[in-house]
Amino acid sequence: VKVLDKGFVELIQSMADDLIVVNSARVSFNKSSAALELKDKKLIKFLMENHHETPFEHCVFTFRIKCPIFVAREWFRHRIGSFNEWSGRYSVLEDEFYIPDKSAVRTQVGKPGAYTFLPWEDPASPPEAFQEALVAHCEASYDLYQYWLDKGVAKELTRIFLPVNIYTQFYWTVNARSLMNFIKLRNAPDALLEIREYAKIVEALFEQAMPITYEAYVSCNK
Ligand SMILES: Cc1cc2nc3c(=O)[nH]c(=O)nc-3n(C[C@H](O)[C@H](O)[C@H](O)COP(=O)(O)OP(=O)(O)OC[C@H]3O[C@@H](n4cnc5c(N)ncnc54)[C@H](O)[C@@H]3O)c2cc1C
Repeated sequence: VKVLDKGFVELIQSMADDLIVVNSARVSFNKSSAALELKDKKLIKFLMENHHETPFEHCVFTFRIKCPIFVAREWFRHRIGSFNEWSGRYSVLEDEFYIPDKSAVRTQVGKPGAYTFLPWEDPASPPEAFQEALVAHCEASYDLYQYWLDKGVAKELTRIFLPVNIYTQFYWTVNARSLMNFIKLRNAPDALLEIREYAKIVEALFEQAMPITYEAYVSCNK
């Protein structure tokens, strides 16, 4: 699924459905269900409402993500999960940079922790000027990167010419419990707009795989 101007979220694999949650909870009583029944749906809601969240850990998703480095940096703060990222030490990074849409050029008002973001409107320096300046900056940075790479300076050092809106890619394997925590924090009004775009897609894929768990998650969190 495409995200931002050049990014994506790809679900590589999942081992996740509502029945796994139910049966990992029912093992407490040495019981299991062959198919999801009404009592199982109630059990999932009970688990969610009462923060008995370990049964959700048996469901696992692996995603491939392409996003700007400043988004990845926030993403990697989520410690309960596994990451492997494209290495700028071992390979040359491509000249793909996130250029925000005009509507995403914004200003922040208010206090830290309670910012409101409003469209950037200044006739003297309109959003188009911001975009143009950013494109020029990315091109100049990438030229310097290539220049010093060609001279023979190591990739691991030369990359410091590159801005944080350059695209990276990584694998992310995460269980449903941690995924819900990610969605709660990152598909939220106070989250960075760009990570929120990714969290929305991750949330939709989670809903597809585990609809009953998702319903319980929504009723407890939204
Ligand atoms: C709007 C927003 C603003 C933010 N601003 C900042 C900021 O200014 N500076 C900054 O540094 N970070 C900031 N963060 C990042 C934030 O502090 C968390 O690092 C990030 O959201 C990951 O959340 P988490 O710890 O719940 O997730 P995970 O790391 O995936 O952890 C999941 C859960 O596991 C448990 N857990 C994990 N590790 C430990 C541990 N060591 N000890 C005890 N329990 C643990 C906790 O219950 C935790 O909720 C911000 C996040 C958001 C959403």
